[in-house]
Amino acid sequence: MRLNLDVALCVRATSKLSECTKCVAATDGKIRIDEQLPTFAKGTGVEAAACVGACPTEAFSLSDFSLTEFFFTFVESKVRLVSRKLNIPCLSVLSVEHLISLALACEETVTLDLNDYEEGSHLFNVIEERVDEANFILSSFSDKRLEVNIDNEVPVASEEQRDSKESEEEVSDRRNFLRNTASLKGVVKHKKAFDEAVEADELYEFEIDEAMTQKIRDKHLPDKRKILFTMLKHTPKPDHYEVLAEEDVSFVSQKFVDESCTNCQICYRICPTGALSSNKKFSLIHFDAMLCVKCHLCHDVCEPGSIQLQPGFETKEFFEPTQRTLATFNIKRCNECGNPFTYLGGEQTCPRCLIEEEEAIFLHKNAKKLMGDDNE
Ligand code: SF4
Ligand code: SF4
Ligand code: SF4
Repeated sequence: MRLNLDVALCVRATSKLSECTKCVAATDGKIRIDEQLPTFAKGTGVEAAACVGACPTEAFSLSDFSLTEFFFTFVESKVRLVSRKLNIPCLSVLSVEHLISLALACEETVTLDLNDYEEGSHLFNVIEERVDEANFILSSFSDKRLEVNIDNEVPVASEEQRDSKESEEEVSDRRNFLRNTASLKGVVKHKKAFDEAVEADELYEFEIDEAMTQKIRDKHLPDKRKILFTMLKHTPKPDHYEVLAEEDVSFVSQKFVDESCTNCQICYRICPTGALSSNKKFSLIHFDAMLCVKCHLCHDVCEPGSIQLQPGFETKEFFEPTQRTLATFNIKRCNECGNPFTYLGGEQTCPRCLIEEEEAIFLHKNAKKLMGDDNE
């Protein structure tokens, strides 16, 4: 099972100003940033799976494992245990959105088997934090919760669970693979094994080529968000809505734009999901909170820092998503070139003509100075 990166989906490919490091933080150094893009050793597999659950845009995936397929197979089955021994390569592939969706989709409580993870290890903490966040968010509108099993008692598999269990061979393959990956560095003896080890340690060199540019521009809503939408649609609305602290919700946000905004258009053109948008005249900024994946790109690219996170997230958005207008602009035609531009007061001249005018004055002054020097 190999780790894959679809570079075109990474927000770092969208803009060199992106500072996203969610995959790096989740994997404790197994993923690193090189020349602006994430990279990892070619032999990397399930041991870095936490980046799959961490990436806001689903740029990372594991070969031979589809999270969406896992989700629907799990919900349709009667199994209510998510375990590395049973049905998932690593619990860390599950994002907070997947965890909330699993809890909402199942009548019975879903249990996560954490027995395979060393308590207090980086991976254990990553998974535990996600479960805590999912349960915290669930508690704001539902009485469903996820449970974790960490008491070292291997849960007994029911007949059905046994049926859907991977073959011993597959499990043993995975274990062998992990063991091999861990030991290859130090104890390779044969040339072939050595070559394989070298290749496994070699870093991928990701590049952005022309074929990718259209994919980068395309708006893409991750599958995990579509699943969450669907589950929330089937969840009864709570009696009242809450406002959760912004820092307690990692995967969605609400925003505002302050008066320093120049309508440079970058944030809404660049937003990977279309959460930020405008109209044909570019005279406003719209925002759909439930399309936002909190990738932070709009903040990273906004030079004046005009777009900001709202301190609270209203849970009403989960059940009654809205499109809010964050800013409106006065679009006028430039008196010089006739092109439309965002009028911010003063002369009715667009920024481009103003720059050209300044340059012309500068050149004119220089020319005069030179002529004056020549006349002396
Ligand atoms: S968008 Fe995903 S792949 Fe790119 S840096 Fe962020 S977490 Fe990593
Ligand atoms: S919020 Fe920032 S990036 Fe977006 S249009 Fe305004 S100035 Fe540009
Ligand atoms: S609104 Fe900003 S944080 Fe949300 S998805 Fe778009 S670019 Fe990312």
